[in-house]
Amino acid sequence: MVAETELYDALGVSPNASQSEIRKAYRKQAITCHPDKVDDPQASEKFQKISSAYEILSDEASRESYDAFGTKDAGQSAGPPMDDFMSSFFFDLNRPPPPPKARDQVVDFEVSLEDLYLGKSVHFAIEKDVICKLCSGSGGKKGAKPQKCGRCSGSGHVLLSRQLGPGLIGQIPSPCPDCEGEGTKIKDTSRCRKCEGSKTTKGKKKISFDIKKGMVDGHKIRLQGEGDEVPGAKAGSLIFKLKARKHDTFRVSGYDLAMTIKLTLFEALSGFEKVICNHLDGRSIKLSVPQGKVIQPGETLCLRDQGMPLSRGYGDLYVQCDVEMPSGYWMKLQDRNALAKLLPVPDEKKELKETENVQNAKYESSSMSDFGRTHAHSNDFDDDNGPSTQCTTQ
Ligand SMILES: [Zn+2]
Ligand SMILES: [Zn+2]
Repeated sequence: MVAETELYDALGVSPNASQSEIRKAYRKQAITCHPDKVDDPQASEKFQKISSAYEILSDEASRESYDAFGTKDAGQSAGPPMDDFMSSFFFDLNRPPPPPKARDQVVDFEVSLEDLYLGKSVHFAIEKDVICKLCSGSGGKKGAKPQKCGRCSGSGHVLLSRQLGPGLIGQIPSPCPDCEGEGTKIKDTSRCRKCEGSKTTKGKKKISFDIKKGMVDGHKIRLQGEGDEVPGAKAGSLIFKLKARKHDTFRVSGYDLAMTIKLTLFEALSGFEKVICNHLDGRSIKLSVPQGKVIQPGETLCLRDQGMPLSRGYGDLYVQCDVEMPSGYWMKLQDRNALAKLLPVPDEKKELKETENVQNAKYESSSMSDFGRTHAHSNDFDDDNGPSTQCTTQ
């Protein structure tokens, strides 16, 4: 007793059919609706249906699973999942190639932050594969019949030797290089002169889409049916993945923006009121920090609702404050004692006490990017039993 008979019905066989009966039934049906021979979308749909039925029923493990559970679990064997390496030993080379499938294509689309903020309509032309108009996607001259590929006997697959591991060469089923996995090919002399047998040509297509307010970096815009055309299958989608171009002022993460401003020591200590940026829609953003609020170097201020637009509301703008210290030249012109009276006095309790042995250290200007530059290997040991010799003998 089987759970359902839909796949058997598609092929026109009984659930008790043998593997050879299933194969015969599939071949008979495939001829009547193969997309290369019959130019009818319904036939193409039927071809896909019987192909997937055959794919499940021709494999004993997936057939068993289908008999027991129906379509929902078909295709998964009852046992633990086999990895690619193991499943290659059970590959049926007589199985016909699966029907062509059009793939979705994902293309990065660079866009300015201004366009993401304000929205924009984009129009341009793309180049894509279209079904050859001369041969209607058959790849052959008028009346030319595709012939069974001699190399793979029509299965679309051949066994190729490949190294599976050290000293282990195995035979791995791979798409047939002669017919590119299709199982059939057209004789060189009968090839369509426009597409030279490739079934498709390059064509230009005008497309347009809207970048809507509220879309962010990484957002995907799907244009159904605008992907490359593949004979015998529906064209896939062309998907544009928005990629925010680097901006001079703002960095973006999700719906939030961030920027860095430079403050003088005076501004950091005494407060300020000034325009810190021109926003993506041209507005000047003025920031006021009152006297009495001291900005610490590296301190971050958050401006609510000044980030990227959401469908309702806005993200936030993070302002990182970089405090610029005055130069040594400026300091030379100042009265040190007068400055000492103005600025806070160091807290003596926090200062380290001198130990018995005091060394006066010398300094030079540097950068933390040099931190770690002194490695062990710059230290030459003239020792034959050193660690480097031991490593090479392993
Ligand atoms: Zn052609
Ligand atoms: Zn072949």
